[in-house]
Amino acid sequence: IFLKALHIQGFKSFADKLKLEFGAGMCVIVGPNGSGKSNVADAVRWVLGEQSVKSLRGSKMEDVIFSGSSARRPVGMAEVSLVFDNSAGTLPLDFQEVTITRRVYRDGESQYYINRSLCRLRDIQELFLDTGSGKEGFSIIGQGRIDEILNLKSDERRLLIEEVAGISKYRMRKKEALKKLEDTQKNLERLNDIIVEIE
Ligand code: ATP
Repeated sequence: IFLKALHIQGFKSFADKLKLEFGAGMCVIVGPNGSGKSNVADAVRWVLGEQSVKSLRGSKMEDVIFSGSSARRPVGMAEVSLVFDNSAGTLPLDFQEVTITRRVYRDGESQYYINRSLCRLRDIQELFLDTGSGKEGFSIIGQGRIDEILNLKSDERRLLIEEVAGISKYRMRKKEALKKLEDTQKNLERLNDIIVEIE
């Protein structure tokens, strides 16, 4: 898969609708300090489900919404879409092109879409798991990240290799299955208590 386009509106410094189209090969975004280069990378991670406001360089989620400038009033909603070329079928969806959208309003209401159909954050995370393109994937390498990877502890390095090898999906499912088992066990215990009481 490759990222064909990025549509931004009301996100951080981008008040107006902005469409960036990326061709195959290398693209470079250049600009003076503070012009919004990192905001573009933040937008990509944000759509892919980034929940950490700290890593988005804010203090609350509302900070991703354009907060106004000397020339413009603040806006009420931020929306970012990523358009992926899926002709190689890497994403398990029967579409040549896959658009992922995230939207957030000032009251905190937030929505995710896959090809304009409302979905859950989880659906987006699952879609990109093991493709190497998720928010923790290696397609986005932030400033300082290389040093961080070199300094990882051995168990953290293992997690990284697991994502590359494509087993994080199974780790996530195992965790969910264990949680279900635990809940079921608790239900069974409750049932047993009730049976004992009735008898
Ligand atoms: P550098 O080269 O210094 O890393 P950059 O081009 O990566 O800079 P960014 O960090 O992407 O720049 O952009 C920072 C700019 O975005 C700041 O001017 C900041 O005021 C603006 N900005 C961030 N969040 C918002 C927001 N919610 N509303 C309006 N402007 C914002």
